[in-house]
Amino acid sequence: MKFIPLSKPYITDEIKKISKVLKSGWLTSGPKTEEFENKFARYVNAKHALAVATCTDALHISLASLNIKPGDEIITTPMTFIATSHIIEWLKARPVFVDIQEDTFNINPDKLFDAMTFKTKAIIPVHMAGHPCDMKEITKFSKANNLSVIEDAAHAPGAEYKDKKIGSLSYATCFSFYATKNMTTGEGGMITTNEDIKDKLQKLSYFGIDKEAYKRYDKKGKWYYEVDSLGYKCNMDSIHAAIGIEQLKKLDSFNKRRRKIAELYTEELEDTGIITPIEKPYVKSSWHLYIIRLPKSINRAKFIDNMAKNNVGCSVHFLPIHLHPYYRKKYGFKKGDFPVAEKVYENMVSLPIYPLMSNGDVEYVIKTIKRCLK
Ligand SMILES: *Cc1c(COP(=O)(O)O)cnc(C)c1O
Repeated sequence: MKFIPLSKPYITDEIKKISKVLKSGWLTSGPKTEEFENKFARYVNAKHALAVATCTDALHISLASLNIKPGDEIITTPMTFIATSHIIEWLKARPVFVDIQEDTFNINPDKLFDAMTFKTKAIIPVHMAGHPCDMKEITKFSKANNLSVIEDAAHAPGAEYKDKKIGSLSYATCFSFYATKNMTTGEGGMITTNEDIKDKLQKLSYFGIDKEAYKRYDKKGKWYYEVDSLGYKCNMDSIHAAIGIEQLKKLDSFNKRRRKIAELYTEELEDTGIITPIEKPYVKSSWHLYIIRLPKSINRAKFIDNMAKNNVGCSVHFLPIHLHPYYRKKYGFKKGDFPVAEKVYENMVSLPIYPLMSNGDVEYVIKTIKRCLK
């Protein structure tokens, strides 16, 4: 009996493309990176894209590009991966959490106003599980209050909000190509934007130097550079970019398969006492995760354990950020601060979902769930 993991990458022609880059003699950022950026920008219909080493870096330098000062406040959701709030900490700013909507697990726009102070500079909404946030409300609020929006779209490449691809709606949108995400480069990330900030972001991604390395070392380029601002080091190399170009070609078919798997799950699990995930009529989810909520009578830890014993890998996304000891200690957060996120966390379980999953695999997972509920 094979194990059905939570997620698995789908790799085919990538191997040939990597070896081509390796033989080319140019390994770091270069024309391949630019090709990936251009193709990704076109895909999400954004003016610019900058490929970086991880989505965490994408979020970090997008926020840094706003000249965030120590003590500035950044609004985000507690229902996310630790990266979203750690990058706020890295810049010595303060994460201010706003509770989520129970049906989408996304930040609740109705609660933004109460979280705002004169120190608030930006909002980082997270498209949880690939279901886009209520961007109309978030955009309206940010415009009215002169705040920048940086979307954490780690789960949402290919997702749509009102027929528009996520990636063209805000100051900056950050994507992840981590091994488990909808498309992968192993590790990797991308920032897309319609603002003229690509040069600024590129500088931030490379020590504050304003020319890409490959142009500097090219015979046409200059050997001289100077640095007038602090930058980081998170450029994407050609090897990762070559993988990304191939994965992007398959992204729509990956997401189509994810949607099909989600439909199969929902059809079979609706009448079991489990709460199945929803999709609002004005969005198209990228179905990065399929998150169910268990009936009250079921012990989650035991359930996940039982599933694993039956060769099905499940997980939990996520322990709300404010309950991590680092944030509890630093800001005095406690249980009860964000009751909706906490309530959802208590019984949420992520089921396997990835394009390589066969219908037979899905049926097996469903059968196993039904058995483990008894
Ligand atoms: C995976 C993830 C990230 C970080 O992405 P990396 O590419 O691993 O840095 C950020 N936010 C969310 C919500 C994620 O799930």
